[in-house]
Order: sequence, then C-alpha cells, then structure tokens
Amino acid sequence: MAEPVLSPDFVPRTGLFAMPIDATLPYDDQNVFARILRGEIPSKTVYEDDFALAFHDIAPQAPVHVLVIPKGPYVSWDDFSARAPEALIAGFVRAVGKVARDLGLVEPGYRLLANVGNHGGQEVPHLHVHLFGGAPLGPMLAR
Ligand code: 5GP
Repeated sequence: MAEPVLSPDFVPRTGLFAMPIDATLPYDDQNVFARILRGEIPSKTVYEDDFALAFHDIAPQAPVHVLVIPKGPYVSWDDFSARAPEALIAGFVRAVGKVARDLGLVEPGYRLLANVGNHGGQEVPHLHVHLFGGAPLGPMLAR
C-alpha cells in the first residue's frame, strides 16, 4: 500500500469552535485565505497552478489534512458553482484530484469536504475543499 504524505502539524484532536460565516455575504478580500493567496500570510504549500493553491491546514484533523482553494474571489461552493468560469471550475476540480494523487491518497482512500455557511460550519469565507486522509476516517458525520 502506498504511504500517504502526512500533514506536518498533525496531532490528534477533537473539535473546532469558531463562528460560522454567512455564505451569502459578498466576498471579503481581507479573509485569511485571500491573504494566503496574495502571499501576505505564510502557508505550507503542497501544490499550485493557474487555478488552485493547496496547503496544509494549520490545525489538522486527520494525519493528512490539506486545503485546496481556487484562485478567485469565491465565498463558498455555492458562489463558485454559480459564478466561476468553466475553465476555473475544471482547473480547480482537476487540481483537487491531482493533489490527492500526489499525496498518495488514492489507493488507501480519502475524503473531500466543503463546508458551506452556517449549518455547514464554514469559518473562512473563501471556498476551500478539505482533503482528509492518512488513516481510516470513521463515519461521515460525528455521531
Ligand atoms: P472551514 O470550517 O471554514 O471549513 O475550515 C477552515 C479551515 O481553515 C480550518 O480547518 C482551519 O484550521 C483552517 N485555517 C484557518 N486559518 C488558517 C490559516 O491561517 N492557515 C491555514 N493553513 N489554515 C487555516
């Protein structure tokens, strides 16, 4: 079995307790991921191309926990799927798949997650897909 590339900051932990955002608000270009995209805040880059940036989550919740974000001002999956141009949507989806392959996650398996708005528990108002792996991930939702 291929060994996954682990997130460098992983320590097992439970729960995050931040305020979820309203995903219907206009894009805020001061959000933390916009600042990471502009290089104003450091991140541990995993992959970058014209459409997407992937970096390790600062508080990993699995042995591999990487965030993939599109290079464009989209608040959420809802906003992105409604407004983004076809080339960016295609490029972003391909980037997510490539990151998972590059991290060695395909054969052991992995999970994608995009939280949207209040009920989804979205904390950062720039679309991000969580990529989790490196160990069996348990049930899809906490029980
Ligand atoms: P959400 O709850 O919005 O789906 O997930 C936001 C994620 O962003 C969380 O997993 C959180 O740990 C991560 N995060 C928040 N701020 C930063 C940061 O400054 N750098 C990185 N790398 N991750 C962050």
